[in-house]
Amino acid sequence: MILPSDFEPLWAAPESAGQDGLWFVFHRSNLLVYTEHATPMLPLPADVLSGGLEIDHAGARFVGMLRDTPVWAARSASDRAPDGHGFENMRGLFNRLPDDLLAIGGRAVQMLEFDRTHRFCGACGTPSEIFEGGRSRKCPSCGETYYPKVSPAMMVLIKRDGPNGRELLLARSGRFARGMYSALAGFVEPSESIEECIHREAFEEVGVRVHNLAYFSSQGWPFPNSLMVAYVADYESGEIIPQEGEIEDARWFTLDDLPGLPHRLSIARRLISHVIREVDPDHPALRV
Ligand SMILES: [Zn+2]
Repeated sequence: MILPSDFEPLWAAPESAGQDGLWFVFHRSNLLVYTEHATPMLPLPADVLSGGLEIDHAGARFVGMLRDTPVWAARSASDRAPDGHGFENMRGLFNRLPDDLLAIGGRAVQMLEFDRTHRFCGACGTPSEIFEGGRSRKCPSCGETYYPKVSPAMMVLIKRDGPNGRELLLARSGRFARGMYSALAGFVEPSESIEECIHREAFEEVGVRVHNLAYFSSQGWPFPNSLMVAYVADYESGEIIPQEGEIEDARWFTLDDLPGLPHRLSIARRLISHVIREVDPDHPALRV
């Protein structure tokens, strides 16, 4: 999910920004949307925001400016929604809510989650306070400062060119939708570089060695708070051995025989498309 270019992420509201604007209202991590039409919609009308909802205004967060419109995030204490509206899981809104709004909603929910999970200092237990204009929270007693958590993770698409043309090493975990395979991914460990993580995870997850790492792109992913950094790598050696408990299946796929692939908004799909495009710019998997 990529923030739109006409959105400016900010922590503190400019003085000119009123409380009117685009509100992302969440109950837990479900977003309130207008559901009367087949396509869920935002913004919420003013009368919806003022009536019938149990919005925690004291805990509202400023998210940024979308062109001239202030963007706010807040929680509702209950999942009761006015007629024609409903709280929907963010993942279920993929392909239904416009991509730009989904990306801003991803920032909004992470800011609310930061506040929810850092109300007290982890070192001494004192209630924390918003600091640096909202960018962090600080303990007034011991001075410990907390920032929103971002967890770096790597993704690597391993490729090789054989007698049958290009082959991609794709794997699936038991948590994936049926029939879907993707590139390998894993969280970076303390003091590890992204490249070291790629070598370690490729060997742990599927038992292969790789080389020629090439950076592709990165993307924030608000489920819950990762920063995915994606690479392409060439296969070097080893037979595929799926890691028990982690990888349900892993295989080499030729471009003529690809399995189900991840959602088009995910960096995984863009990475896979990039490597397919190198050898076949007209491949049907690119038409999504
Ligand atoms: Zn403290």
